[in-house]
Amino acid sequence: MGSNQSHMGKGKSVGHTRANGNHAVGEPRLPRPHGTPRDYGDGDGGGHGDLGDCGNHTRVCYRTPHGGSACRCFERASVWIFDLDNTLYPASSNLFDQIAERMNLFIERLLGLSREAAQELRRRYYLEFGTTLAGLMARHGVAPDAFLSFVHDIDHSPIAADPPLARALAALPGRRYIFTNGTRRHAECVAARLGVLDHFDGIFDIADAAYVPKPHRATFERFCERLEVAPPEAVMFEDLPHNLETAHALGMTTVLVHSSYDDHPSQREIAAGAPPPAHVHHMTDDLAHFVGQLAARRAR
Ligand SMILES: [Mg+2]
Repeated sequence: MGSNQSHMGKGKSVGHTRANGNHAVGEPRLPRPHGTPRDYGDGDGGGHGDLGDCGNHTRVCYRTPHGGSACRCFERASVWIFDLDNTLYPASSNLFDQIAERMNLFIERLLGLSREAAQELRRRYYLEFGTTLAGLMARHGVAPDAFLSFVHDIDHSPIAADPPLARALAALPGRRYIFTNGTRRHAECVAARLGVLDHFDGIFDIADAAYVPKPHRATFERFCERLEVAPPEAVMFEDLPHNLETAHALGMTTVLVHSSYDDHPSQREIAAGAPPPAHVHHMTDDLAHFVGQLAARRAR
């Protein structure tokens, strides 16, 4: 454990490394929301990625249409914050589908509902409270540990090692954290299977957040206080657009990672072709490539 241990919460260490990987460096790829090619600019003089209107942007800065006003870049970044589910691993693994099914089953058994009614309630609480758990705690007094251990009792084997992502993360200068509305155990299991666990300085999970999920401001502030993060020096990667709103408000740079798992209106609007909201500064559909490009740029 190196010097960054001081930034960990008590007993929150997952280990870390500062090895410099050989990251793949190629031409930047355009963000491709929901598999549909859409030009948000490639930082090469055209479209919304035009370097000419912001001297701080780099070629890997895939700015969204609002990038000009938001104008948040990566040059000052020293803290890299990653959501877990459908961000660090692709939604195509269907891992989150397993979790959703376990949530349905938990509600079905708890309240004696049909599978369909349980699914509807899960979605309603998710939209109303931010997470299904928050709704179950508020309306039914559910103990969070019982719910979380049940819903994360899944088969993690669909998650494959991701060496390009591991190399890219290892090459990022600064601290790296996982910030998840799930559990530490789930995050550790996923990160270990991806082969990236040792590249993170810590994990901030839903228990650390006192079961108040992202995007609540109090939770972001708790994260920053616990890990001594100055928001203007931080970059937040997320697959849920609305979870980036608070990150933006606090002064972080935001990156929306495309996910094919779009069960929230804020995702579906973008997938349907709507411009991303102003609090989404950058977008990518290839996290490993994006991070690798950032690392390569910062290494120069
Ligand atoms: Mg996610």
